[in-house]
Amino acid sequence: MATLTTLTALELADAMREGRTTSVEVTTACLDRIDALNDRLNAFLAIDRDGALATAAKVDADRAAGKDLHPLAGVPIALKDNMVTRDMPTTCASKILGDWIAPYDATVVTRIRAAGLPIVGKTNMDEFAMGSSTENSAFGPTRNPWDENRIPGGSGGGSAAAVAAGMVPLALGSDTGGSIRQPGAVTGTVGVKPTYGGVSRYGLIAMASSLDQIGPVTRTVADAAALQELIGGHDPADSTSLQDPVGDLTGAVQTGAGGASDLSGMRLGVVKQLQGAGYEDGVLEQFANTVAQLKAAGATITEIDCPNFDYALAAYYLIMPAEVSSNLARFDGMRYGIRVEPETGPVTAERVMAATRAAGFGDEVKRRIILGTHVLSAGYYDAYYGSAQKVRTLVQRDFATAFDQVDALISPTAPTTAFAFGEKTDDPMAMYLNDIATIPANLAGIPAMSVPVGLADGLPVGFQILAPAREDARMYRIAGAVEELMGTLQCPLVKEER
Ligand code: GLN
Repeated sequence: MATLTTLTALELADAMREGRTTSVEVTTACLDRIDALNDRLNAFLAIDRDGALATAAKVDADRAAGKDLHPLAGVPIALKDNMVTRDMPTTCASKILGDWIAPYDATVVTRIRAAGLPIVGKTNMDEFAMGSSTENSAFGPTRNPWDENRIPGGSGGGSAAAVAAGMVPLALGSDTGGSIRQPGAVTGTVGVKPTYGGVSRYGLIAMASSLDQIGPVTRTVADAAALQELIGGHDPADSTSLQDPVGDLTGAVQTGAGGASDLSGMRLGVVKQLQGAGYEDGVLEQFANTVAQLKAAGATITEIDCPNFDYALAAYYLIMPAEVSSNLARFDGMRYGIRVEPETGPVTAERVMAATRAAGFGDEVKRRIILGTHVLSAGYYDAYYGSAQKVRTLVQRDFATAFDQVDALISPTAPTTAFAFGEKTDDPMAMYLNDIATIPANLAGIPAMSVPVGLADGLPVGFQILAPAREDARMYRIAGAVEELMGTLQCPLVKEER
């Protein structure tokens, strides 16, 4: 059997069911690999060896006793450090939360615990999920296992690097403007943003509530489907949670009549606005290769015009900071985390808040709070926030028109492959442009995912699939075909072990 840390989640689940390995063995292998690699990659901010092994031992005992177990029971998982957990600190990679431990578990965490998946730790991220490179973490950047001088994407770089490097087969991320999909693209992993409301946000520390969505980070499409089935579905604790059942996503991965890659009758639209200038040649080449393969597999391909996508990035960078400025008001030095008193002068509530926020938040977070406060202020609200909301509606209409003509849309996930550390840190605008292809899905609430489709100059390229709201199963079906046609990627760090 291949090294345990190179197997997919579903392969591990089978091996455990058939008695070829145990959860304690698998979890130990992951924890050992995390110990061996984390100093180099900085993918984890917290590691819970004892907690993970206790869960693993319990699952093994339950299995031995013949108890009915969840299909993924015993498979280790990591959580982005903005999902609250009762037994580990939750930092959002910010200094402001200090060593705060939440008094409750996020709904996704409750579901993971109930299903018996050992939680090995919490992963690094851009502070409060703001960024595209994980360079905004207060605890240092995560390194891309494909090339340790390059970024792993962001904000969920820790989860993506952990999965790509074989530290863990499954992880969760959160996607407000691309933070699951863009790291997926640049690390050669699968990253899914489900339909808005498809996965509970209860216990996800909010960045921009109308855009945030939790989703799977995995090495294969089938693993992502299995994980979304586990975490998805209605949650009365989240008022924006959909009533729909999660659906048969794992089944959808294999439903083509002649195997997954039979796409006859599937109408796919290439988004005209998400290609061309600004996209690297290598990215466009792999995208074109994939489109040719999909065509050969029976899909019809047309180009679809989504004219308002040209304004999506601008609208996002008004709506998102507006919500950020409101959501982050709760970090005030009184309720959670650190408290810093002013060095001189009276210790009033307002001055403690100011000193705490000045010391606790990093530059990018401050930039967005200031921007958001400005766009919501009297006199500017209509010009900025109001206009952005109108653009949001126009983007939604572009999608609605597109989905009258095609079953799903496709595009590159990100305009470039992984870039070098420091390349974009002095230019927020250049950093924001990484999300040009991922943001429209968040503005519209539709499901979208990134699947690896090969390399450009030795670095992974991601292919994005966008489906109508609540059609996550259709998105998975297409993703399964893409994976079967293009193969999965294994980073050199993992290949060494095989
Ligand atoms: N990179 C985007 C941003 O900086 C998206 C972040 C996210 O999805 N959390 O806002």
